[in-house]
Amino acid sequence: KKKLFETKKGLPAVTLDGKMIKVNVNSGDSDSIASFRCDECDGIGLFRTEFIYMDHKQYPTEDEQFEVYRSMALKNQGKELIIRTLDIGGDKQLEYMDLPKESNPFLGYRAIRICLDRVEVFKTQLRAILRAGVFGDVKIMFPMIVNLEELLRAKEILEETKKDLQAEGIDFKKDIPVGIMIETPAAVMLSDKLAEEVSFFSIGSNDLIQYTTAADRMNERVQSLYDSFNISVLRSIQLVCDNAKKNGVMVGICGEAASESKLVPLWVAMGVDELSMVPSQVGKVKYMIGNLSAAEMKKTLDDVLNLGRIEEVKSRLADVEKKIL
Ligand code: PEP
Ligand code: MG
Repeated sequence: KKKLFETKKGLPAVTLDGKMIKVNVNSGDSDSIASFRCDECDGIGLFRTEFIYMDHKQYPTEDEQFEVYRSMALKNQGKELIIRTLDIGGDKQLEYMDLPKESNPFLGYRAIRICLDRVEVFKTQLRAILRAGVFGDVKIMFPMIVNLEELLRAKEILEETKKDLQAEGIDFKKDIPVGIMIETPAAVMLSDKLAEEVSFFSIGSNDLIQYTTAADRMNERVQSLYDSFNISVLRSIQLVCDNAKKNGVMVGICGEAASESKLVPLWVAMGVDELSMVPSQVGKVKYMIGNLSAAEMKKTLDDVLNLGRIEEVKSRLADVEKKIL
């Protein structure tokens, strides 16, 4: 079927009952940028920015970052480009950042926690993103949110940054949409309140699985617990989708689970608006979306969320997958 999948990449993905779902790609290293083709997806659902910082011996300047974001926006030709602010720390060490060695890196000083603490570093990145926003459908996304205060503080810093640019007479995207990653159980449980403050959610399943199952995503010994079919994880994602819908907030998934073919029908039934993944999966996922009905999958979804055993979930979803693929 590989050839058939290829033909779907450039076409919109619409379910049999008429729901259109964006199938975006994740990007954020030199190779993925070089090979990026905007005609083979609906946009970029997750642009990881860590590589820019890792490729430098000191903090990248505003202009250096601006060049990267702008060239990505131009390559994307008006399609959505969701730029995630710096998500570094913990396991990723950068000498010039002088980060503390920690015994629990994934529970430590990382991502938005660093940005809210080192405000100048954060503002430099925000300036670059705001300026690049003029060149495409650019959106900002904050990672690792665990409470409303972090989000409000990040938005406050964004507003301060806009004021600075305005005062300096520099062109920028004034109405840039702001979203957050939902990748902690705390964000899941507060997603009704968080939804009032953003225009979109993107569920980071890689971290959400890790934090929900308390299983380090890098630790091989606990890989059997780190499972995207874990029912608590699936129920969490359902809750986030419901809270997003209630508030008219767009919701997507950008972790690896987004393109897991046994789970795609569930995501559609939950009502996701967008899925973001490695480019090699786009054709297959679009094909699947085009061959299933969201309404029909609702029954499967309800059944699955009421099961207790992960193996039962997998076998039920394997049957559904077989019929579609
Ligand atoms: C995630 O956590 O699912 C995610 C997409 O972010 P990252 O893998 O960069 O932590
Ligand atoms: Mg993450």
